[in-house]
Amino acid sequence: FDMFVLAFVERVFRPTFRKDDFALGKKLGEGAFGVVYKASLANKTNSKVKGDLVLKKATEYGAVEIWMNERVRRACASSCADFVYGFLETSPKRKGSEYWLIWRFEGEATLADLMLSKEFPYNVETLIVGKVQDLPKGLERENRIIQTIMRQLLFALDGLHSTGIVHRDIKPQNIIFSEGSRTFKIIDLGAAADLRVGINYIPKEFLLDPRYAAPEQYIMSTQTPSAPSAPVATALSPVLWQLNLPDRFDIYSAGLIFLQMAFPSLRTDSALIQFNRQLKRCGYDMVAWRNSVEPRASPDLRRGFELLDLDGGIGWELLLSMVRFKARQRTSAKAALAHPYFDREGLLGLSFMQ
Ligand code: ADP
Ligand code: MG
Repeated sequence: FDMFVLAFVERVFRPTFRKDDFALGKKLGEGAFGVVYKASLANKTNSKVKGDLVLKKATEYGAVEIWMNERVRRACASSCADFVYGFLETSPKRKGSEYWLIWRFEGEATLADLMLSKEFPYNVETLIVGKVQDLPKGLERENRIIQTIMRQLLFALDGLHSTGIVHRDIKPQNIIFSEGSRTFKIIDLGAAADLRVGINYIPKEFLLDPRYAAPEQYIMSTQTPSAPSAPVATALSPVLWQLNLPDRFDIYSAGLIFLQMAFPSLRTDSALIQFNRQLKRCGYDMVAWRNSVEPRASPDLRRGFELLDLDGGIGWELLLSMVRFKARQRTSAKAALAHPYFDREGLLGLSFMQ
């Protein structure tokens, strides 16, 4: 059965919404490209959509974000927040129009919120397993929690990348803890690129967050011809994917998140920016960076290295395979999931569980 027919049938029979259906709650975020609110259905009768929702009112980039969310829902739903509906809202009163995007409200906390807490990573452990572990507090236990978070993040990324989507804005603020599934999910596909069908093909570098961005400015070589702007499938794109490995851009960002989880002192914006400067000075060589900071490391930094050095240094080795200058030399999400770092028991006791 044809994918496009399925998509069409789903589109026709899914409930549709319009502006007046929603009651707006508190503001959750505001960026250059839109405002995000907690919301609910104003008229709750005869609707299958229950519970709290999230509403994003977006500018022109909302069109791309709706496309990405529709595609994720059909291809790799568990990777991202549960998308409900998206539409163009034209207001006759105000000039122009805006895109409205609706998701289910996944939970109160992003990974950024959780990492801000002094309790991190123990606050995440309680969220994921819902009980206190019998293992004593310490490096071993923290490593297990961080390992579980990394596995969930890489699993979500592998879903996106296998679908042909590069996120391009992977950072703790865009990773939400879903209270329903007790897993981390990716949000904010506003800067994402779907390379297999040429959506948002020309990179919008100005959308990228410099704190988590890989050193390459352009995820595709600037020499590659510009792709069609309409959602027309091209046979060329998978080849370009192989040539340029654009998914490795997200892997670099995920590596920096791994680093920040291991080193509490690198969790602030200013510390991350300083780290980026140091790494650049070291030619993006993590081993050179380690050699430069370890001799005069603070107890906190020393503890981070100790965590990554557990089990023969497999955590450090995974980090090295993600944070590399050349995209080609970085591991893929799928290969990272098969790394020995994930062989040992995670939080849930079963290493194959998410
Ligand atoms: P932007 O970064 O463009 O403002 P996001 O899509 O990242 O927009 O959403 C902003 C914030 O809203 C997030 O950081 C998160 O706190 C919250 N949020 C977004 N989507 C959800 C969701 N599905 N469930 C719960 N909270 C969400
Ligand atoms: Mg965001």
